[in-house]
Amino acid sequence: MSPDNPDKSDAVAEVRSLRERVRLLEERLAASDRSMQAQTESLHQKTRILESILDSMSDGIAVADARGHLRMFNPAAADLLGLGPIDAPPGEWPQRYGFHEADKVTPFPPDRLPLVRAIHGESVDDQELYVSRPGGPEGLWLSINSRPIRDAAGEVTGGVSVLRDVSRRVAAEAALERRTAELLRSNTELEQFAYVASHDLQEPLRLILSYGDLLAKRGRDRLDPGAARFLEEIVGNARRMSDLVADLLALSRVGTSTAVVEACDAGLQCDRALASLRDLIEREGATVTRDELPRLAAVPGQLQQLFQNLIANGVKFHDGAAPVVHVSAERRPPLGVVSVRDQGIGIDPAGLEKIFAMFTRLHTRGEFPGSGIGLAICRRIVERHGGRIWAESSPGRGAIFRFTMPLVEGEAA
Ligand code: ADP
Repeated sequence: MSPDNPDKSDAVAEVRSLRERVRLLEERLAASDRSMQAQTESLHQKTRILESILDSMSDGIAVADARGHLRMFNPAAADLLGLGPIDAPPGEWPQRYGFHEADKVTPFPPDRLPLVRAIHGESVDDQELYVSRPGGPEGLWLSINSRPIRDAAGEVTGGVSVLRDVSRRVAAEAALERRTAELLRSNTELEQFAYVASHDLQEPLRLILSYGDLLAKRGRDRLDPGAARFLEEIVGNARRMSDLVADLLALSRVGTSTAVVEACDAGLQCDRALASLRDLIEREGATVTRDELPRLAAVPGQLQQLFQNLIANGVKFHDGAAPVVHVSAERRPPLGVVSVRDQGIGIDPAGLEKIFAMFTRLHTRGEFPGSGIGLAICRRIVERHGGRIWAESSPGRGAIFRFTMPLVEGEAA
């Protein structure tokens, strides 16, 4: 560089600097090119992953643009609908794909189709519809979720639907509904039958009993000892049958009753039960006590009957020692747990469940009288109130019968 030619040396410096800048720019360009390539490869990779996810899904995915053109269908969507994406406006979709309402005959209105609603900016969850699949195998039930697709500015650019085959669930629900309806009908018929049968049996039984008594009184002197004993048997059995029929009637009344649940003072119903058991309690020399009891949501007459059956059993099933029965309760909101505890003969653990079934008795009538229906009535009453009844006991150590029923709101814990 010659100090006597400053212009030239400036120009050389400038060229150098320009070259340096070009080199730097080229380097930067190359770097950004490499980064672009990496990004493109990563995008391709992501697309491939997404494609294989979509291909392997059993749920169908369908995407439409804002004008209702179907842009994407995964294989499951085509499989479920029995037809791939069609080039037709949404108004034709119900007819072409066979979309129907739950009655399977009314065409599904196009503007209520989940994908169409998504294109209009709505989100749809669990919309069920029936697809008759005109061109494919038999129809099926779909549950569809849809969401709008938006661009960075928030404008809706299309919609996506996820289709799930729920045919099995719908068929199971329909079968369950049918079976429940059949059971309800046959149950009502049975209850009616039990009611009519037990009700109509009472009258002839009453006649047998009163003529039997009459014959026993009037014919006392004329009947030989053998005939008198036969008559006694007839009357005794007729009385037993009458008790059985009365119990059956009580059981079927619980089933057919239309009585309504009300706020019910359990203490009062327990006292009423005790009043109607006075003869039995006196005869057995029993002591029956009770704690303060909560208010329960119950049918008063049925709650009284429940106490009556449980207390009567507590008084009845003892050997020797005078029976002692105590009624208590615990508040465990939202339920009240009532316990009837006795100090009688107790129950073998193997019998604790069985005794609530109809006609199940762990003792012969010779040991203790009864029909084996009392606890079945108790269970039916408790279950009708949405509660549970069970027994706790071991032989020789008394028994505790507990039942739950809803507490009346406001009962403190
Ligand atoms: P029933 O009293 O007419 O026999 P239940 O249905 O009331 O019919 O009772 C069924 C059976 O359960 C009784 O026969 C008896 O064997 C047993 N059982 C019920 N309550 C008690 C009790 N408190 N202690 C012992 N055994 C009981």
